[in-house]
Amino acid sequence: MPNANGIVLRLREKAIIDADLYLREQCNAVRLSNNEFAPEMEKRFTDAWELRFETQQTVRRLQIYIGSDFPFSFPKFLLLDRPPFLTWPHIEENGLLCLVDDDRIAKPDQPAGILGTKLKQALELVCRSEIEENQSDFQKEFHSYWDVQPGLSNVKVCSLLRAKGQSRFVRVWLGEIQSVVGESEREVLIWLRNLFGDKPQFDRTERACLLWLDGPLVPSEYPTTPDALIQLASRLKGGCELVHKFVMKGKPPYYFILGADSESGPCLAAVRIFSPQHDNRKGKVTSSSQVMRMCSADAKMDRMEVERVDAEWVHGRGHDPYQHILRKKHVVIAGCGSVGAPVAQQLAMSGVGKLTLIDYDRLSWANVGRHPLGAQYVGKKKSIALSEFLQMNYPHLSIKGIDDRLESALMPSLEYGDCDLIICATADWGSERVLNMQHVAGEIGCPILYTWTEGHACAGHAVFLPKNSASCLQCGFDLGGKNQFEVAIWPPDSPTERREPACGAVFQPYGSVDLMGTIAIATSLSLDSLLKDIQTATHRIWAGPLSRLQEAGGAWSDVWLGNDPRHGLGAIQEDRTWPQNFDCPVCGVQKNPQSSTLAIPARG
Ligand SMILES: [Zn+2]
Repeated sequence: MPNANGIVLRLREKAIIDADLYLREQCNAVRLSNNEFAPEMEKRFTDAWELRFETQQTVRRLQIYIGSDFPFSFPKFLLLDRPPFLTWPHIEENGLLCLVDDDRIAKPDQPAGILGTKLKQALELVCRSEIEENQSDFQKEFHSYWDVQPGLSNVKVCSLLRAKGQSRFVRVWLGEIQSVVGESEREVLIWLRNLFGDKPQFDRTERACLLWLDGPLVPSEYPTTPDALIQLASRLKGGCELVHKFVMKGKPPYYFILGADSESGPCLAAVRIFSPQHDNRKGKVTSSSQVMRMCSADAKMDRMEVERVDAEWVHGRGHDPYQHILRKKHVVIAGCGSVGAPVAQQLAMSGVGKLTLIDYDRLSWANVGRHPLGAQYVGKKKSIALSEFLQMNYPHLSIKGIDDRLESALMPSLEYGDCDLIICATADWGSERVLNMQHVAGEIGCPILYTWTEGHACAGHAVFLPKNSASCLQCGFDLGGKNQFEVAIWPPDSPTERREPACGAVFQPYGSVDLMGTIAIATSLSLDSLLKDIQTATHRIWAGPLSRLQEAGGAWSDVWLGNDPRHGLGAIQEDRTWPQNFDCPVCGVQKNPQSSTLAIPARG
């Protein structure tokens, strides 16, 4: 337990004495007793002062509050004489000023300096606000104001929309606590089913109208009536026509999404209008009469917060320049074990649009320690459980599990016609060899990335072979499946595999941390290949730290050590070209059919 008379307390006591001296003597402030604190402030702060200052327009009162973490946190400023909420930016509803505090406290032993700097910022903010010099901040930080306005509806809108103009019809699913808006009914319903399960209420969407404005609204423009909304629409080219069409084709509640580009990216907001539906029995209904009905006295309107849930936002807050490429990619991952499963998870987190996961094994308790799926999935098929787990967490992606062996799953290879990459993480020479033969024979029309770890996960490999690779996987292996470029070597009496007390149950002893390097190289090389169109066979190697290798009883191989002194220390990632073997029994046979015992029979 920290000492009650410890260093922090002594610093704090001195800081308060210094602050009091500074504020009273330099700023003519008056110390406030606790019962003079503004409402709510006594719960958050320990000490306060009040001062008056003169601006161009008037004299204003400002209170200065410090909390129990002063002088390691900034003071807060409460403006007493102020206009109504949302007239000036950077003032909370309770009157606290929002000052920029991305700077850090450099000298907590000099509280007068901290107070002086912040007090100056506070006074400047008030003066700029008085002359309306900072109104554009309402637009730059649109969501900070729209989302806190009084009377905002409890219903939120989740948006899958492409956050850009032009104005258009979109689809909305109406929920009690959250509605979901997207470009198409299919997109919205699939997202809902992925996230919440296949429920009967996810059966239909309604038409909604997206109005893309020429700039974000300032609070005085926030529409509070249907008339005001029509006014906003009329500022847009074709806006009125769109609203008329919408009101004729849609039905109440009418959902309008308001979008605009700001300096800091696109902003979204929503309103909905409840109005009596038109009655066809009363003669001809025109769009004008319908708009009038929507704007009638008994129509009600409320404003809603919009939260973006689209891929561009989820993966990089709209600033990842690769999202538009990755979302169109399809990656097949064979082997959902301790390397394949985290690689699949990383690719989903990176925003790869479509993943197919192949594995026939079940998750056991002994897998849980190094697998993204935990105890609740024990006994379930890894491929199916992992696909469901990832699909629920990334509902905007498309993730499918196949409970099968790689060889048979790939047989109907036409199904993978749109596949951009196959990742083989089976760590099984038999399936790797079959896949390699299919690739060399041209039966698989996409690149393949093989990944595996060495003993104790002290090193890891990822080998990317493009579609028409000059070399194949076999080129770097002997016929028994031994990698010719092993990073670590082990004394004959220290096997890298241990046995479980069961027939044929062999496992590699290492923990999840040791696997991180391999997972990182396999994922990064996969992403590089998806984004950069790599045309050379590339071998990415991870060599773990030397200490880990020595602890496990291994040593670096001569081929890894080479002439590079950095290699001896380990903890290094490196790329090299995957070698081409002209006598390769798989791909060499294409050039010299007599050389091989593994000749692939010619077709036909
Ligand atoms: Zn080869």
